[in-house]
Formats: sequence, structure tokens, C-alpha cells
Amino acid sequence: MALRLYNTLSAKIEQFQPLEDNRVRMYACGPTVYDYGHIGNFRTFVAVDILRRLLRQSGYEVRHVMNITDVDDKIIRNSAKNGLSVKQYTAKYEKAFLEDAAALAIEQPILVRATDHISEMAEFIAALQNRGYAYRTEDGSYYFRIAKFPAYGKLSKKDFAGMEDGARVDVDEYDKDNARDFALWKAPKPGEASWETSIGPGRPGWHIECSVMAMEELGETFDLHAGGEDLIFPHHENEIAQSEALTGKPFAHFWFHARFLLVEGEKMSKSLGNFFTLRDLVLKGHKPSSIRFLLTSVPYRNQLNFTFDGLKQAASSVDKLRNFRLRLTGGHFAEGANENMKALACETVERMKAALDDDLNTAQAHAAIFDMVRKANAAMDNNGLKRDDVPLLLGALEKFDEIFAVLNDDDLPRMTSILQWAKAEGRETDITPELLTILQSAQLADEQINHKIAEMEQARRSRNFKLSDSIRAELLAAGILIEQTKDGVRWRRK
Ligand code: AMP
Ligand code: ZN
Repeated sequence: MALRLYNTLSAKIEQFQPLEDNRVRMYACGPTVYDYGHIGNFRTFVAVDILRRLLRQSGYEVRHVMNITDVDDKIIRNSAKNGLSVKQYTAKYEKAFLEDAAALAIEQPILVRATDHISEMAEFIAALQNRGYAYRTEDGSYYFRIAKFPAYGKLSKKDFAGMEDGARVDVDEYDKDNARDFALWKAPKPGEASWETSIGPGRPGWHIECSVMAMEELGETFDLHAGGEDLIFPHHENEIAQSEALTGKPFAHFWFHARFLLVEGEKMSKSLGNFFTLRDLVLKGHKPSSIRFLLTSVPYRNQLNFTFDGLKQAASSVDKLRNFRLRLTGGHFAEGANENMKALACETVERMKAALDDDLNTAQAHAAIFDMVRKANAAMDNNGLKRDDVPLLLGALEKFDEIFAVLNDDDLPRMTSILQWAKAEGRETDITPELLTILQSAQLADEQINHKIAEMEQARRSRNFKLSDSIRAELLAAGILIEQTKDGVRWRRK
């Protein structure tokens, strides 16, 4: 079965088919780099990453472009306040964003920056003006004339009939129901950054960058455009207006929007104290893999309620998967095959594919893999799992991980970098004992741990329980959990 996706433009689930061969061209609105990314942002970026990985797993070649908004109202204001150039101010946050995205195993799209495309934006605006879709005001700003574009509102399903022609708004973000001509270009203001261009000095409005860069990288019409649901209006509505006014062709075929994330049932906000960046959570001792897993546990169009209980459960789910793989790769199995296990592995791969093809039902894909883990673990407990079953079960796990990317344990180096960042930024007070305990366990190398465990077993065999208990306690204090199984002692890091 082929991929079916909800398209905000048609307000329907549609069969996804690229416009050209098996090449998918997609554009996702990226971060505005004026601060550290929060988990709401990453809810959307992880959802887009899941889509990208699924498209690739389904055999498509994916060209995925994302912009970095490195100029907008907030950036201009903050950089002026801090006495920095726009580039100096945004460089730090862009770097942080890319590090955080990598920590969450988000594959990096092709990146394009607004400030590298200022002259193309000016040309685009000039072309809109030539066609009568843009006008210049006395101060040298340019606006898009909504009255000239009757399809305005087709994405957000807002009815703008009877709107006032020529009423304007020049802030980038506005959520008014009645449309206003929006700023394409803003005249310079004293003390604020501006650029000299063919349409005069000034700086771009927020919306124009995505039209210009998406078309430059992907063509006038491309397959899919993504972002969080807050971008439907005005940002994406305005992108459609600018782009289609210029080309007379459809801009993006599919519009993909992730639902907003809540934290402990509330809208995330600094004043409620429930606003978390990725770094805040890591400093509290949470692993990036647990965060990624939690962010994918609810399908992207459903509301994800981010809770600390949920995060704990996510951590234990990831552990379960990692332990299962360890058990498969490290266990001793009798020769032969168990037909039930073979069927289980095949059925799991099919269930996962069907779930993801159903508008990215990540929750069902999780359910499928955990059914497999439960059944295969039970079979191993009863010697029902044979040597030839192992590659099939590992294969299913691998397919799962091509999308969800939580099996490889590289949490510790990522957490260590965030610890170092916190120290460098003078945020020592945010570093929790939980984080330090986890990182301490990393200081013991695998070999040392194996050695200590051998000593512990030796002590036990010679009935020196005092010694074996003290080694166990020492390992536990260093964050190493020890489990006695039929196949001997297994350990893992907390
Ligand atoms: P921004 O950096 O504010 O431009 O946002 C980057 C991306 O994060 C956009 O696609 C937003 O729609 C998305 N986003 C912002 N807040 C949330 C949230 N609470 N839940 C999901 N996505 C969000
Ligand atoms: Zn955009």
C-alpha cells in the first residue's frame, strides 16, 4: 500500500505521489534563530524527519530543503539591543540549533539562509510589482495586494470576502482573521540592520524568504511543504499568494502541518514555567533518545501532551528496545528456525509499514515493534527462539530504527557536550545530579565494567558475598545496572 497523507490544502487524506518520477521535492520552514530551540519546535522538526525517512525507506529520492530564518523582527530587535550585527547574533543560535537537531538524530536537510538571498528577494518583489501584485508605500516599504489574489485564504480556509483593499500590516506575525496587505519589504529604521538592493534600502518581511528559496531550490511547483500548524496562517497563506501570483502555477502540491505540542496539558510558555528547550531537559538528566522517542509516540496530527511521566516511559521503552537487541546479538541459540518467529518478524515489518503509510501513524508502528519484542522475549525465555530467527528479528528492528533512530546509544557524548556548554555559559546551577550520575557511568569503559563483573561473579562463586555485593554497589553508584539472566550477567548504563 502506498503512502497516504493529510493535505491541509485539500483538507483530505490523499495518496502521495511525487510530481516527477520517484523524486520527492520538499521544503520545510526552519527555525528563526533568535534563541535556543524548544521541544515544541522539535516536535515539528522530528515529524518532518520521520516523513523524510519514510519517503526514503519507501524508495523515493528525497530533496529536502529547509530555511534558516536569520533575519526577522525579533532578530533585528535583539541584535540591535545587544549591539551585535545580525550575523553575529544569529550565528550562535544557528549552531546550537544544528547541534540540537543532530542530538535528536534529525537528518540534516539542505540548508538555505535568508540573509544569503536578499537580492533575489528584491527581484522577486520587483517582479510582483510589475504584475500589479505589490505596491510601494511612501517610506519605501512594499506590500502584497491581497485584493488582487482572490484565492487568498484557500489554505487556511478563511473567508476574506469584503476585506478592505489597501489596509496594511507590517509586523511579521499576526493572527487577525481579516486579511491585511502584508509587508514584503520594510523600509530601513534608524539603528536597525538594512540592505541596499535594486528596490531600495531595507529588509525583507518574513514570508518572502520561503517563496524565493523554495522556488530556487525546488522549482516553481514542488511536492510538499511542511511546518507547524501555526504557520498555516498567515505564513503559508502568504507564501502561496506571493508564489502563485508570480508564476500562475500551483506552489506546493501537499501541505503538511504538525499539531502544536502541549506541556503537562498546557500551552508552553515562559510565564507558566513549562517552557523547555532541548538543553533544559538534558541538563535535568533526560536523554536525547528518550525525547525523540516521546516526540514520535503520538502521530503528528494529534496533540502530543509532553509530560515528565511520559518522558520516563519513553526512556524505558528505548531501554527495552536496546536490551532486546543486545539479547539477540549476545545470546546463544540452538540451531534451526521457529516458523512462528519468522512469521512474527514478517508481520511486524508489514504492520509498521501499514501504520506509517496511514498518514504516519507512529503510535501504531511503536505498538507493532513492542508486540514483537514481547513475543520474542517470551520465546527466548522458553528456549523457543532459534539461531535462524535472529537475523529476521534484527531485520525488523532495523526497519523500525531506519525511521525512529533510537537504537544506537550515542546519548552520552551528546549529553556531555550539553554539560560543557552549560559550564561555558555560566549555567552551572541548571546542571542536576541526575545528569552527573548518568555521565559518571560513561567514565567507566566497557572493558573495565566487564572486568568488574567478572570479579563480582568470581567473588560470588567463592561465596564471598561481601565482596560481590560491594562490587555491585560500586557499579550501581557509577550508573551501571546489572541483571542476572539465564545467559549470565548482563549490564547496561542507566
Ligand atoms: P520558529 O522558530 O518559531 O519559526 O518555529 C520553528 C518551527 O516550530 C515551526 O514549524 C513552528 O510551527 C514549530 N513550532 C513552534 N512551536 C511549536 C509547538 N508548540 N508545537 C509544535 N510545533 C511548534
Ligand atoms: Zn516558511
